Amino acid sequence: MVDIGVNFHASQLASITTSLLARAQAAGVAQILATGTSLASSHLALELARAHPGVVFATAGVHPHDAKSFDAHTFRALAELWKHPEVVAVGECGLDYNRNFSTPEAQRAAFGQQLSMAVQAGKPLFLHCRDAFADFHDMLAPVVADGARGVVHCFTGDRAEAEAFLAMGLDIGITGWVTDLQRGQALREAVPHLPLDRLHLETDAPYLFPKNAGSRRGHNEPANLRWVAAGVAELMQREVDEIVQACSANSRRMFGLHA
Ligand SMILES: [Zn+2]
Repeated sequence: MVDIGVNFHASQLASITTSLLARAQAAGVAQILATGTSLASSHLALELARAHPGVVFATAGVHPHDAKSFDAHTFRALAELWKHPEVVAVGECGLDYNRNFSTPEAQRAAFGQQLSMAVQAGKPLFLHCRDAFADFHDMLAPVVADGARGVVHCFTGDRAEAEAFLAMGLDIGITGWVTDLQRGQALREAVPHLPLDRLHLETDAPYLFPKNAGSRRGHNEPANLRWVAAGVAELMQREVDEIVQACSANSRRMFGLHA
């Protein structure tokens, strides 16, 4: 399996990387993308990728929550990070109007600058969109038309939004949100209609502990990825292994992951 989103820099995970990776491997998670959400966490993700070649890969970007910190220095430093072969995606970047930790204006500025470089960097986008569909879609459309590829990670929208992203050419990342019978209702209704060759699996650990994994034990971690696959399989009425194989192949192809 490939987990395309783990926040190793989060305080819950930062000190236990080695055991997380061992448990992930034992659970069949062979490759992981370490999410960079700021300059500091992007550097950390690259360090992890270098320490675990062929197993951990990095993304480098500035999350909309951190957009207020984005300046010319950030931009130059990211451009340097994107040159490394271990950095396989531009992001996490996007828009999040759910909590507005940075103002919408600051978010659009930081996102726009990262998008402008993504095509030149030749790397796929690792995208975040929450409660910002219209602006997000409008900003991405010309970039994707210019040749950018990418995944809308932790997709939490409905069928119409998913189909709009797919029509644009973007893939969809599915987390444990799909197992949430309350918050995940719109996504659960959408999943049976999504094409399996455009989906990716992710835990977004330490967040979004899968609700189908039984009683919650601490924080979420990459070893729980199969529960996300099981949630998708149930909704699509397919075998878990079929979901796993398809999504892993999609992720390896999208991000160019070599063993
Ligand atoms: Zn996100």
